[in-house]
Amino acid sequence: MSRVAVLGAGTMGNGIAHVFAQSGWTTALIDVSREALDTGLGMIRANTERQVKKGTLTPEQRDALLGRIATNTSLSGIGDAELVVEAAAENREVKFRIFQDLDAAAPDGAILATNTSSISITEIAAQTGRADRVIGMHFMNPVPVMQLVEVVRGLETSDETTRRIVQLAKALGKTPVEVNDSPGFVSNRVLMPMINEAVCCVMEGVATPEAVDTVMKLGMNHPVGPLALADLIGLDVCLAILEVLHRDLGDDKYRPCPLLRKMVAAGRLGRKSGRGFYGYRD
Ligand code: NAD
Repeated sequence: MSRVAVLGAGTMGNGIAHVFAQSGWTTALIDVSREALDTGLGMIRANTERQVKKGTLTPEQRDALLGRIATNTSLSGIGDAELVVEAAAENREVKFRIFQDLDAAAPDGAILATNTSSISITEIAAQTGRADRVIGMHFMNPVPVMQLVEVVRGLETSDETTRRIVQLAKALGKTPVEVNDSPGFVSNRVLMPMINEAVCCVMEGVATPEAVDTVMKLGMNHPVGPLALADLIGLDVCLAILEVLHRDLGDDKYRPCPLLRKMVAAGRLGRKSGRGFYGYRD
């Protein structure tokens, strides 16, 4: 495989396009918003610039990487891609609709992967006529830096599709870990309750965000505190994941903290909006 289409040019989509293009893949980056495509490409440019400064990429390699990425606002950009990686909004109805459209627009043999953080791969696959070729390819943020790809098998995902995606993740320089389809998979089922408790500590006045994060960094050896991590992920994304865990597992221990809802309602989404538990100037 050498041709990929990445759907969604936001926080994750631009990072995913970056790593594919860096590995030599012809990459179509597709988003409904032209502005999101421009911002996404700007992020890729800035990140490759940083790699050149660090000496991990030559200027020629950077130019070649950028030259492999074409942007498009319509699914016609998929062309003859052998793999589509969807990284649009974390919303069940939006993803269902996208996969119905992808099934019609992508070549018959193409694998359709989703970067969803929590939504059922089995349900997403059921929107298509190729459930055996639908799989979760859950990259971590920031994609060019983080090692893990959680490879999530839906009920109908074939061994062959899983094998190809595991192999491909390794070729991208990542470490794939195979898990079965379940709300939040492993990563967010374990991470989100911790973030939610951290938000509750702030809401209840137990400690400031700085204090909560310092306890987890110095006491538990976490490289980043849970609230700084929530700001990086996006508070809207955290809320959406907790809602899936709460509804699909049916256990109140996953109930999103009211302060998290309030911050999302106020547009304090973390880094991407300039303000979350912390302020960000750019
Ligand atoms: P984001 O809000 O930064 O970007 C989403 C992008 O999708 C936007 O640019 C939007 O215009 C675009 N979009 C919406 N509907 C579309 C459509 N129908 N077709 C094409 N593009 C469309 O979101 P994100 O943080 O990049 O998250 C994307 C996905 O990755 C979500 O499923 C999320 O759960 C998952 N994820 C996020 C993180 C994280 O840390 N943010 C980590 C792992 C996985």
